[in-house]
Amino acid sequence: MSQPAVSFEFFPPKSLRGSFRLWDCLGTLAPFDPSFVSVTYGAGGTTRQLTHDAVCAIGEQTGLPVAAHLTCVDASRSETLAIAQSYADAGVREIVALRGDPPKGAGQFEARPDGFTGSVELIEALANTGNFDIRVGAYPEVHPEGVGFDADIAHLKAKFDAGATSAITQFFFEADTYFRFRDACVKAGITAPIIPGILPIESWSGTQKFAGTCGTAIPPIMAQAFDNAARDGSHDLLATAVAAELCDDLLEGGVDHLHFYTLNKAALTRDVCLAFGLSRDGALQQVA
Ligand code: FAD
Repeated sequence: MSQPAVSFEFFPPKSLRGSFRLWDCLGTLAPFDPSFVSVTYGAGGTTRQLTHDAVCAIGEQTGLPVAAHLTCVDASRSETLAIAQSYADAGVREIVALRGDPPKGAGQFEARPDGFTGSVELIEALANTGNFDIRVGAYPEVHPEGVGFDADIAHLKAKFDAGATSAITQFFFEADTYFRFRDACVKAGITAPIIPGILPIESWSGTQKFAGTCGTAIPPIMAQAFDNAARDGSHDLLATAVAAELCDDLLEGGVDHLHFYTLNKAALTRDVCLAFGLSRDGALQQVA
């Protein structure tokens, strides 16, 4: 089997210590030769400048293709497009375009009167600039605000029709969840890549909370296994095995690109990649 493509998501560091940790992550994961790395945009647009700085610094320092996440939250259309323009000026060619969520506790997304009303409008505007390869979010288990599986897929189709070129999914724990979604997308006429998003389980309690918010189902057997692993100190081994098996199943089913939510902790993602057989040929080169 040929090597699958991989990509890695990071969040922007908020401190010097965090910057060193991110640099460490890049050093650990760059040898897997990712097709891109991406940097999130804090809920409510809270990391606007930090995201920009991290995207540009990673691009300049490593030469890796970097995708900047960008949301519609709490910004006018012109402010959002000015951020996009600053990426184009810095040579950034990929954007993960999202509607976004407001900050924690602030209720549901509400568009500003002068802002983009949602992801489709943002994608359309970014596509019109001609500057970007546009990736979008996709939800195999239906977005928490979604009205249903078919409506969600129709909405995803609208994002592709607006100019998106690939989608990255919310995390999920069973390969069949992804395959059901991928097959329904194809049936709906979506031909662009739907890249599965993999969340290696760093913290079982954190993952349970996060899954609850995102509507990601947790197989009962997994809950039992992580409770047992916590008791006998084998969490990391189990987390590696669970994620590696999921990757294996996806690759067996024809997936050729895996996207990892690293949470800026590289060791588990590295071990998962090694476990499903990815080789490390590249080395992080500092180009600037
Ligand atoms: P959309 O897909 O546009 O809409 C969300 C859901 O609302 C749809 O799935 C659908 O169910 C419903 N919906 C909306 N409009 C319509 C419509 N017209 N018709 C029918 N249904 C509709 N958040 C951040 O704040 N920062 C990030 O960096 C970030 N990165 C992410 C990366 C990935 C890969 C993913 C999957 C999510 C990310 N998120 C991020 C979370 C994301 O912002 C939230 O899930 C948000 O609530 C939805 O954004 P979206 O662009 O996917 O929304």
